[in-house]
Amino acid sequence: MSNTLTETPEAGVPADARADQLRALLDGPWRELRERFRAEIEPQMVLGEPGRSIEENRARVTAQLLSLAEKGYGRIGFLTQYGGEYDYGASCVLFEMQAYGDLSLTVKTGVQFGLFGGAVQRLGTQRHHAAYLEDIMTGKLLGSFAMTEEGHGSNVQRLETTLTYDVEAGDFVLHSPTPSSIKTYIGNAARDAQMAVVFAQLIVPSGSQGVHAVLVPVRDGDGNPLPGVTIGDNGPKAGLPGVDNGTFFFDHVRVPRENLLNAYGDVAEDGSYTSPIEGENKRFFTMLGTLVRGRVCVGGGAAASAKKALVIALRYGTQRRQFEAPGVEQEAVILDYLAHQRKLFPRLARSYALSFAQNELTSRLQALQGEQAHPDEQGQRELEGLVAGMKALSTWHAIDTIQTCREACGGAGYMGENELGQMRADTDVFATFEGDNTVLLQLVAKGLLTEYKETFSDLDAADLIGLITRQVGDTIVEKTAGRAGLQKLVDAVTPRNDETALDNRGWQLWMFRERADHLLETLGKRLRRATRENAFELFNNAQDHVLEAARAHIEEFILTEATTAWQSMPKGPARDLLDKVIDLYALSSIEADKAWFLEHGRLTDKRSRLVTASVNDLCQALRPEVDTLTRALGVPEQLIVAPIAQ
Ligand SMILES: Cc1cc2nc3c(=O)[nH]c(=O)nc-3n(C[C@H](O)[C@H](O)[C@H](O)COP(=O)(O)OP(=O)(O)OC[C@H]3O[C@@H](n4cnc5c(N)ncnc54)[C@H](O)[C@@H]3O)c2cc1C
Repeated sequence: MSNTLTETPEAGVPADARADQLRALLDGPWRELRERFRAEIEPQMVLGEPGRSIEENRARVTAQLLSLAEKGYGRIGFLTQYGGEYDYGASCVLFEMQAYGDLSLTVKTGVQFGLFGGAVQRLGTQRHHAAYLEDIMTGKLLGSFAMTEEGHGSNVQRLETTLTYDVEAGDFVLHSPTPSSIKTYIGNAARDAQMAVVFAQLIVPSGSQGVHAVLVPVRDGDGNPLPGVTIGDNGPKAGLPGVDNGTFFFDHVRVPRENLLNAYGDVAEDGSYTSPIEGENKRFFTMLGTLVRGRVCVGGGAAASAKKALVIALRYGTQRRQFEAPGVEQEAVILDYLAHQRKLFPRLARSYALSFAQNELTSRLQALQGEQAHPDEQGQRELEGLVAGMKALSTWHAIDTIQTCREACGGAGYMGENELGQMRADTDVFATFEGDNTVLLQLVAKGLLTEYKETFSDLDAADLIGLITRQVGDTIVEKTAGRAGLQKLVDAVTPRNDETALDNRGWQLWMFRERADHLLETLGKRLRRATRENAFELFNNAQDHVLEAARAHIEEFILTEATTAWQSMPKGPARDLLDKVIDLYALSSIEADKAWFLEHGRLTDKRSRLVTASVNDLCQALRPEVDTLTRALGVPEQLIVAPIAQ
């Protein structure tokens, strides 16, 4: 680690070499795909144009999707025996790279290859794979993923659409029984989908079996809705103008029995139901768990968009001049103002840290769900929690960063040609789809507090919370074990008081861990008082605490992964530069949560003021490195078309 916070760039080491080294580290395990994308992708393949109508945007996006599919980009996440490449992690990385282009296209391809295709692959079996995967990869068969209903978005276990097996006819009847059961906001629905994976309550002669997915043809060859299917258009939205979001309403639509995506539950001809998984709850969450990739993609895509915004704003910041400094003829460059650095550098540092955490998530996803995957319930549970939390924090980071970058570019940032306005509008909804962020953070906390197997029993809320609280002790032990890799760094920090250098990574990690552990332990203590009667109220009254605990856990994960990546670098100037970047991430995070650290005695008043001074120092120290740091992000140059960033 660096000895001071204000070292100047290493003399004599070319900036390019450091940028290359950092880029290789940021690119992570799928560097080759990222490089291929950078080399192959031309602007017209993935960019849009400002000021176009909804119809023009939709037509352009569909054409671009088909052209990407033609080049084989649709095959990356699919099973090899059906013509795919089955590199699951790579499909997430591709989503990230596409997010440097038009986000409508990114989302549209995400719906087609990720949500629709992914559900057919993950929830379906050989008969569905053989019949549909090739056409899905090539874009010959366009489809939707129809889960959300007007009445239920976050609480999808309570969907109202029914899928009832008719023993005499030997097929299903798909029905939307109430106005609020209309499927809505569904990507690909309004214009393009020929089929949809529809989520509905499965009803067989023995009773309801909970939510299942079924493949439903929705349009004929001429693009007209099939009998019994009413398709609507959500119309203009706050962003993503090229995605045709719409509605489906089903009136007693007949669906062949074979169309049930039956990996986790099947209905025989005589109407008997079988499933390899006992219990409706466990089955439902297992099904959702197999679809976790969508959240990895959305978090990574949002973070990529934030990086592009930072490149635009930082480049503009190095050129734009306002107000003269005494004794200097020219006006000052705006990035030389501390206030401007304060806007952009902490967010740049956080982008770096998030990249390392995102790479780790993608690798874990590949290990657990890729071609060579080994089933690992504990690993899957951890992954689901991390993915939910990272999705929330990455998308919020993107929304905040893109808005800040827009402001940092003044009026120019508001002009359509400079890209930031559309990016801001498009990333907004990333906080909502693939799981509302607030709801996701609650999942993270519940996961941390709950032992795996019991979560899946069919328990009511009081039982669950009772279990949650009994498990707190074990959870802490488990977390501690997972931290072994960096324990030496933390242990080396003695004493942990005002004498410890602020740029001591061990101290920074200790602070993040202290916060995460304390929040979790005290949450457990609060919930331990739960009874069947007061469980809902108790949990509700602790919701702010729940969210803080989840957030602190994910922040610790981010710093841990950033530290691990930094440690993997050979000693030298690139590593020293990254060290400063991680210092800035850690200290600006501590600064943002000063109130908590002060209230809980982890910072003294004096040290708290020093944290702020150090953040200022680091911003100024990184100012001469802006070119290296932005180039290292690896945003494809041809996709930065904003005139202010040239
Ligand atoms: C552009 C767009 C594209 C989409 N594409 C698809 C798609 O292709 N397929 C699909 O199936 N769905 C899609 N969706 C739907 C999306 O997944 C849902 O909108 C999302 O899950 C949130 O559900 P909701 O809109 O019903 O919000 P709600 O669940 O009603 O949430 C509203 C608010 O209530 C809060 N809230 C809810 N529950 C709690 C709680 N327990 N505690 C505290 N606060 C709570 C939330 O934080 C949120 O702020 C899309 C949505 C949009 C906008």
